[in-house]
Amino acid sequence: MLESLDKIVSFAKRRGFIFQSSEIYGGLSSCYDYGPLGVELKNNIKKAWWKAMVQERNDVVGLDSSILMHPKTWEASGHVDGFTDPLVDCKECKKRWRADHLLEAKGIKPDFRPGDADININCPDCGGELTEMRKFNLMFKTQMGVVEGEGNEIYLRPETCQGIYVNFLNIQQSMRLKIPFGVAQIGKAFRNEITPGHFIFRTREFEQMEQQYFIHPDNSEKTFEMWKEARMKWYLDLGIKPEKLRFRDHEGNELAHYAKAALDIEYDYPGMGFKELAGVHNRGDWDLSRHEKFSGQELKYLDAEKNEKFTPHIIETSDGADRAMLAFLIDAYEEMEARGDDSKHDTEVVLRLHKDLAPIKVAILPLSKKEPLQSLSTEIQNNMSGTWMTQYDETGSIGKRYRRQDEIGTPYCVTVDFDSLEDKKVTVRDRDTMEQERVSIGELKEYLVYKLT
Ligand code: ATP
Repeated sequence: MLESLDKIVSFAKRRGFIFQSSEIYGGLSSCYDYGPLGVELKNNIKKAWWKAMVQERNDVVGLDSSILMHPKTWEASGHVDGFTDPLVDCKECKKRWRADHLLEAKGIKPDFRPGDADININCPDCGGELTEMRKFNLMFKTQMGVVEGEGNEIYLRPETCQGIYVNFLNIQQSMRLKIPFGVAQIGKAFRNEITPGHFIFRTREFEQMEQQYFIHPDNSEKTFEMWKEARMKWYLDLGIKPEKLRFRDHEGNELAHYAKAALDIEYDYPGMGFKELAGVHNRGDWDLSRHEKFSGQELKYLDAEKNEKFTPHIIETSDGADRAMLAFLIDAYEEMEARGDDSKHDTEVVLRLHKDLAPIKVAILPLSKKEPLQSLSTEIQNNMSGTWMTQYDETGSIGKRYRRQDEIGTPYCVTVDFDSLEDKKVTVRDRDTMEQERVSIGELKEYLVYKLT
């Protein structure tokens, strides 16, 4: 079992999943780049989310709205006034802390309103006295257009869902949707977090996968339950260990200004304990009625059959692609005693990712670098690469190549040997069972389609 994120951080760099941003310049704090395998894994997570949330449902459609939005959006949403974290500074070592996190770490439930004076805690690093608490707005501000100054200020969106609310009528009317229906979107969000950290768990630029489900107010409780179960099931179906996941209800003061009810799906991150992975929120009619007020445009739904006009309520599901990726990596990472006879190491790593998430689905491993095995192997790869991400690896012993693929989670290795030239068969090795099966080249694709779906 992992005790901290350290091994995952070095593994992710060593195997091309995640790099520190701008590393050659000393790195940019809390910003990360997804490498060749990381981008595949993250894309597969987003694909799996889109499949479950949009493709497989008749009641949810997609959207890709812009990151920059009319500044009034953020007044209406409450972010200009209320998207703040309580900040304290150490008077001695000058380190900056989030007051709510300091209290939580002491087992005290944060129960203050921003502006409350004293939290009665000293700096966890040096024991120094802390300043009074101040409100710190988390939105990144920038300028739009060529003239700097007031009036041109614009924000990088801190959440993707506002793009959905402002498009409510465009989507409902153009797609002739009847309530209940949902709108899903994946995209970047930006928050000037006071205390980013824990690798890609809390960064200042991240990706959200959010879905807003518009409903009649009478149906909010049962819809909340439906989405709560659906989101948990998604993580379980993709292989996360059940004991590593739990629900946590938000209580009292913890509820966001817009929320009627909210819960987190938490994952047990090593060295951090259970922390938020995703959220399900009952936002009531807050969003549409606020945008109605600030834009002056009516944002109501007319149920023609019942001749009833109302402001829909919203149940939101909100997942972070980066936090999900961290959870999937941690959960799949397994160190075990060397499985092969030719291993020079005592332990080896197997990344037991769900097949849908694995960055590379099939590795093609010719036993020799020379012809005619090379041509045959290339031909086999060309036949697979239109369907899956594949990798061609001809260097090192076959045991070493298996281990390299196990480490990045490749479910199947196809070994092309000298017998293949005669019997037109290859050996397919399974990552998890290590079983090897001889499969005829003509039937290989069909065999792998069956195995990978
Ligand atoms: P936290 O309490 O951890 O700051 P939050 O409650 O502010 O999170 P939401 O506003 O509900 O988070 O955002 C929805 C999801 O977006 C979160 O569940 C998480 O997966 C992701 N997320 C939020 N903030 C960050 C961040 N700074 N870095 C990476 N992912 C994030």
